[in-house]
This record gives sequence, C-alpha cells and structure tokens, in this order.
Amino acid sequence: MEKPKKIIVTGAGLVGSLLAIALKKRGHDVVLFEKRPDMRKQKLSAGKSINLIITAKGIKPLQDLNLWETVKAITLPIQGRTMHSVAGELAYQPYGKDKTECNHSVSRGELNRLLISEAEKAGVRIHFDAPLTNLDLKSKTAHFENSGTIQYDLLFGTDGTGSATRQALIEALGNKAEYKVEPLGTDYKEMTMPAMNGKFAMDEHSLHIWPRGNHMLMGLPDREGSFTMTLYMPKEWFEEFKSPEAFQNYFKKYYPDAIPLMPDYVEDYASHPHGFLGIVRMKPWIYEDQIALLGDACHAMVPFFGQGMNSGFSDVQFLLDQMNAHPDDYKTILKNYNDFQKPSGDAIADMSRENFTEMCEKVGDEKFLLRKKVEHRLETTFPEKFRSRYGLVTYTLIPYHKVKEVGVIQDEVLDELCLGIKNADEVNMPLAEKLIDQKISPWFKAQGLTPERFRF
Ligand SMILES: Cc1cc2nc3c(=O)[nH]c(=O)nc-3n(C[C@H](O)[C@H](O)[C@H](O)COP(=O)(O)OP(=O)(O)OC[C@H]3O[C@@H](n4cnc5c(N)ncnc54)[C@H](O)[C@@H]3O)c2cc1C
Repeated sequence: MEKPKKIIVTGAGLVGSLLAIALKKRGHDVVLFEKRPDMRKQKLSAGKSINLIITAKGIKPLQDLNLWETVKAITLPIQGRTMHSVAGELAYQPYGKDKTECNHSVSRGELNRLLISEAEKAGVRIHFDAPLTNLDLKSKTAHFENSGTIQYDLLFGTDGTGSATRQALIEALGNKAEYKVEPLGTDYKEMTMPAMNGKFAMDEHSLHIWPRGNHMLMGLPDREGSFTMTLYMPKEWFEEFKSPEAFQNYFKKYYPDAIPLMPDYVEDYASHPHGFLGIVRMKPWIYEDQIALLGDACHAMVPFFGQGMNSGFSDVQFLLDQMNAHPDDYKTILKNYNDFQKPSGDAIADMSRENFTEMCEKVGDEKFLLRKKVEHRLETTFPEKFRSRYGLVTYTLIPYHKVKEVGVIQDEVLDELCLGIKNADEVNMPLAEKLIDQKISPWFKAQGLTPERFRF
C-alpha cells in the first residue's frame, strides 16, 4: 500500500487532467492548478478547436482507468488518408492492416472538458485562474496566483509548451539543464469546412490531405458533420498573404476542389489566430524525488505523426507502471521515468518532423505510394513478422525510440524490395520473407519483443 502524498499538478490540459485522475485513484491528495478559467464554462474561441487522433499508446492508460469507453463515445473512427491532387483526383491509403485498426478523431476541447469533469468526479480539487508563478524546490512550495503558496511532497508539471514549471526547473538546475526550442519554420491556421445539408462534405472516415510540397491543407471530421481544416504554410507566407486578395489567389491556385466546400475560407483565414509549430527539448525531465515534467512541457513536437497527446499519455502510463514497480520509492520512479521516456520523447519528436516531409511532399509521389503498398502487402502476408513503422507507432505499445530504431532496418529492406518494380504485385515475396527473417525478426527477438506485442 502506497503512502498517500500531497501532490500538485500544474496545468489541467489533457495530460495533467489524466494524470490527476490516476494519482487520485491511487489514494493521493491531488490538487490541480490551471492558468485559464474553467473551459467548461467558456465558449471555444474560433480557430482554436483542433481535432486530435487518439491511438494505442493514448488509449491504454484510458482503458486502465476505465475511461476509454466514455472517451470513445466522443470520437469518430478514421480508417485511412485521402490525398487530393490539384486537379481534384483522390488517392486513398488505409492506415491499419485491416478494418479493425483505425485512428480515433476527437475534439481537443471536448476531450479536455471530459477529463476535467472526470478528475472532479474522482475527487481531485481543481483551481482555475491559478497560474503557477513561483516554485521553490528547497522548501517544496509552489505559488499560484489567486490561490496562494502551497506545500507539496511531489509536483508534476503538465503546463504545456510554455511551461512555467519547466522554467523554474531550468533556473534551479542552472548549467545542468539543457533546453532547446527548434522552430519548424512552418506554422498553421485553422479553418472550417461546414456540414452540407447536415451531412459531411467529404468521406468522414478519412484524414484528408492536400499535399503541395512545402505546404498543405488537412481536414479531420468533427462529430457535428463539419471538418476542422488546418492550413500549414512557411511562416513568411502568413506575412505575404495578408490581404484577402493575396490569400484568395494562393488558395485558388492550390486547393481549387476545397473552395466550393469552404465558403468562409477567406474570413476564417483573416480572423483566426496563427499557430506556431516547433519542437521543445529539455533535459532532465525531473528533479530528484520531487518534480517531473510530462507531455508538451518537456517534449512538445510538431503534429504530423498525431502523437503529441498520445506520447503525453504514455508518460502517464510509464509513471504509473513505475509506481507499481517501486511503491513509495520516488527517487527510483522518477529516475527510471526520465531515463526511459526522455529518449522515447526525443524519438517521436524526430519522427513527427520526418512525417511533415512525408505528408507535405511524399504522399502524392508515385514511388512513395508504391512503397506504402509494398509495406501493406508485407503486413498482410506476414502479420506475425512485419509491421510498418507507422503501424508500430500507432497501433502498438512498443516505445517510440525502439520503433525508430527498427524503422531504419525496415527502410533498408523496403529499399531492396522496391528496387526496379512498378507495382506491389511484383514484389519478390520469398526474398521479402528471407529479408524479414534475416534482418527484422532478430531485432525484435533481441529486444524481447514477441509478435504478440505487434497487436494491441
Ligand atoms: C494542430 C495540432 C494538431 C495536433 N494533433 C494531434 C493529434 O492528432 N494527436 C495527438 O496525440 N496530439 C496532437 N497534437 C498535440 C496535442 O495537442 C498536445 O501534445 C497536447 O495537447 C499536449 O497536452 P499537455 O497536457 O501536455 O499540454 P496542453 O494541452 O497544452 O495543456 C497545458 C495546460 O497547462 C495550462 N498552463 C499553462 N501555463 C500554466 C501555468 N503557469 N500554471 C498553470 N497552468 C498552466 C494551460 O492553460 C493548459 O490548460 C496536435 C497539436 C496541434 C497544434
């Protein structure tokens, strides 16, 4: 039995709310402090809705806390991606190896509200309008505006990309801390594709992408029948397309098939906020046995693998597993958390940037599409031996840094198999099996990962 601790969680976003629920259910005294007012009483501001994809690593802790069925009820299944060419032609790629594997799309605001309510139901005390303004690691006290100074045994920083907890940690650690922000140079703006006569204007089980080289448009369905559209462009273009005419000319040139479905695209562009994209890296994520950072506070990434929240939820999962393995030994729990999750966070941040290139440039490319088809053929022919890197990230619990490692080997195998062929049916399957057995299976064996771990 664990000794109940007085725990502070800073930031009632997705990760903080989930963590607070889990800690409260373990019997701790948990207080959650949130900078903003209670979002359940506020109207969502236009252009900031954001739809997220939930996948295996995010689903697992929700299942363990008996929350998945409640969350699933507010999601939509997404089975693949549909690419839109400038000429309006469509190409479809399924995500999973069969229909049982899919991603789940959810509104970030709706999910956050649900988790805050679940935290309250579990008995977590929540202070809104209460930003962390000071943290004193020596006296183990934290000061929050409108809530005063509070003593803690443990403090978890889940206050997102601009984390004040991280800043306090950096100041306390001095030159022992490493901190870096890597701007992508591409930013985003949200727009809307409304429902047409109460129905979705495009296939609602797809992520829609208009890949255009160094810029793209993306659409994910909302439960109301609309699509949340996100336009990604080089940062400087937002300056260039300041006038409605300049933006209209750009949009007409690259996304003509979307225009009849997005009647307010010019107004949306002019009035919605401009979002920054970049990677945040921090080292270490912990301080002794008293503080740990989770989620975007220590590993904000670009959204192109759809894993920002999922990786934050996997931080929660790992921490809880460590609490089970080492009850009350917070020095070991936090050290193991840092040593394991930090490389994992770095790996998914790297892969999220690589996926930006994939989504913007490659998804419309013949060679890339052929490679995806070959991968799909290998997955369906050898389900016990081969999973694509996308599948390993999205549909298994195999940690991100391990997936990145085996992904390099898989790339070599795919290079060899795709050489000189024009169609996935032409793949030399006996050679494929031989290469998998010689190069990929030994890696899984050496990691102690059985084919069972391919499934979730
Ligand atoms: C366009 C876009 C698309 C995305 N798509 C996906 C996707 O498909 N799948 C996915 O998994 N992820 C996706 N993400 C990433 C995902 O949104 C984030 O990774 C996730 O929200 C991080 O959760 P968090 O709780 O760590 O941080 P946040 O959700 O940012 O929560 C932090 C909370 O801390 C509060 N706070 C800030 N400062 C303080 C303070 N000083 N004191 C107290 N509270 C404070 C904030 O108000 C906020 O409520 C996407 C992101 C973007 C921008």
